[in-house]
Amino acid sequence: MEDAEDDAVLTLRELSRGGFEVHHRCVHDADSLRAALAEEAWDLVISDYHLPGFSGEQALELVRASGRDIPFIIVSGAIDQESAVAMMRAGAHDYIMKDNLARLLPATERELREAAVRRAQRAAEADLRLAAKVFEGSIEGIVITDARAHILRVNQAFTAITGYRESEVIGRRMNMLQSGRHDEAFYRTLWQTLNERGAWQGEIWNRRKNGEVFPEWLTISAVSDAAGEVTHYIGGFTDLSQQKQAEEHIQHLMYYDALTDLPNRTLFGVRFRQCMQRTRAAGDHTAYVHLDLDRFIKINDTLGHSVGDQLLQQVARRLAANVRPLDIVARLGGDEFGLALPALISPQAAEPLLERIVGAFAKPFRIANRELFLVPSMGVSFYPDDADGFEEIARYAETALQHAKQQGATSRHYQCSMDHGADGSLDMENALRRALERDEFCLFYQPQVDVASGRVNGMEALLRWERGDDGMVMPGHFIPLLEDTGLIIPVGEWVLRRACADQQRWSARLGRSVPVAVNLSPRQFRNRELVQMIDGVLAETHMDPRHLELEITESSVMDDPEFAMQTLSACHERGIHIAIDDFGTGYSSLSYLKRFPLDVLKIDRSFVAEVPADGDDVAIIDTIIIMAHRLNLRVVAEGVETEEQLDFLHRQRCDSVQGFYLGRPMPLEKLFEWLQAPSHGTP
Ligand code: C2E
Ligand code: MG
Ligand code: MG
Repeated sequence: MEDAEDDAVLTLRELSRGGFEVHHRCVHDADSLRAALAEEAWDLVISDYHLPGFSGEQALELVRASGRDIPFIIVSGAIDQESAVAMMRAGAHDYIMKDNLARLLPATERELREAAVRRAQRAAEADLRLAAKVFEGSIEGIVITDARAHILRVNQAFTAITGYRESEVIGRRMNMLQSGRHDEAFYRTLWQTLNERGAWQGEIWNRRKNGEVFPEWLTISAVSDAAGEVTHYIGGFTDLSQQKQAEEHIQHLMYYDALTDLPNRTLFGVRFRQCMQRTRAAGDHTAYVHLDLDRFIKINDTLGHSVGDQLLQQVARRLAANVRPLDIVARLGGDEFGLALPALISPQAAEPLLERIVGAFAKPFRIANRELFLVPSMGVSFYPDDADGFEEIARYAETALQHAKQQGATSRHYQCSMDHGADGSLDMENALRRALERDEFCLFYQPQVDVASGRVNGMEALLRWERGDDGMVMPGHFIPLLEDTGLIIPVGEWVLRRACADQQRWSARLGRSVPVAVNLSPRQFRNRELVQMIDGVLAETHMDPRHLELEITESSVMDDPEFAMQTLSACHERGIHIAIDDFGTGYSSLSYLKRFPLDVLKIDRSFVAEVPADGDDVAIIDTIIIMAHRLNLRVVAEGVETEEQLDFLHRQRCDSVQGFYLGRPMPLEKLFEWLQAPSHGTP
């Protein structure tokens, strides 16, 4: 964009000097610029700032409106600093004074290079979008074609349904599957709908490799590139003739143990949670029994797997025969079984039921003319007596089982002290009770850093206990006990109040607000007074809720989704941000979590530890980030300890990072010092 011919010539000469083969068009008003943009895919726009009847701003707007990513460099004799900055904000890539034209060449080279990188990233994203679609629908037969319906890829279900292997169909046209049952008009309408709406679905008759004609439910969608051109079609279909059968079969495989035909661990979790709901409504108790077979491994090793398998089948039958109809028996894996005994008036009411289960093992098992005796060990925990979340209940029963085995007992009920070593726990409990009054808790803060800019954009508050002579105790050692004793409620309130006050102190020092993240344990999150408590602390500390982030775990959300929704919505309304902590260690899925108003996903450090060396972890992180971004969640990676990890996360477009490489958790005074470093705090 240049009206003075001399200047245009100088600019072009400068570019040719750098070895560019310049194919150019010189324009100086809106119409000619629009026409030029429409006609060709330009690599670069160089624009004057002052033009008669037209301006640099307008030129920039037209370029951006064209929807293409073209670097835009201003070359001006007279642009003032303010306008130049405004132009850069509006999306210009650089500005160069005419009397300093030597800068043009390096700026051009840099911008062309960066534009190429952006193009490559967009292409890679397009690939991933495609791949993600394939995997998401993988129970269906899936076929991907190019824009002219030539088959590029099919999945295993495609092969299972049609009988064609991938190698037999690649490169061929989709119509190879046609059954001849539809007329030309049918296919014409199909393509017309597909091209107009980008998708078609309906019932269609196709032919398998063996000649059999079958009905399928087919969905075809068009995949377009950024410019709106169709690049691929994706077809997903289910075989309607077998649909019912297949569905039932898959359900069974997913939820039942193949050997014993008992519910598996997954289904047991679902069923136990249902029991918990009923127990809540009825005000009674449900026992969780974790049972394993004492000599089983030895029998399996000496007599062989076939005997072992038969034994497990018999055990399963005996267990099922010795419980009440409403009880649930499941195989958790190996020689471990899980039982849910609901509708108990009291925990003691479980006694006769447990005795009957043990009694089921009194007689020997008969396999291949042998008599085998087995003794079970059981760990028992109760809902709601021992904990109010499923995961804790399950963990407690397992802990109790370990104790039963250590002590050679048949069954043990869970006791709080089991988790914390048999002795000393009472001392610790008393000491914790006094710690709050004695002001022994303190908060450390660990910075979170924006990957792109390197600036601090958050601090996570981490609790420490300064226990007299014993020195500093880490949260892993005392938070479980705080949870079990309920002390986490007052301590958590203290943490929130201190964190809010500190947030305002560092923000005042920095001259900008850097939010604080506070961890909430499952027990805190389930507390019915949580929102009220938060409101109180926010009011008292005059804290802006938008600068507070609460970190919760997946299980907090999973255990009572309805209540979680209420609490999260209340936080969301106030502007408080919610992060899912340690993501990937639970068993919830992103698609499940997307129903909840969440803002941030923190990838657990176990995934970060081995990247970029571990291919699986690389793939997991890659997928988490893409999916999270699609759900509008910001992604924070935890536990970043090396430069390689940081580089990797940068490449994966992770938003923020936290870890020893960036900064360790530190007390407030240290944090102030740390923030002094030029790269950390100040803009
Ligand atoms: P978290 O929320 O996942 O916190 C991150 C933990 O990772 C912290 O451990 C931190 O010191 C550690 N960490 C950070 N960067 C690195 C790294 O680069 N490498 C390694 N190896 N570790 C790193 P910390 O302080 O021991 O806290 C442990 C857990 O205790 C926290 O995990 C959180 O779940 C819980 N917690 C801490 N403070 C509180 C609190 O005030 N309330 C509640 N309810 N839980 C808390
Ligand atoms: Mg955390
Ligand atoms: Mg974490």
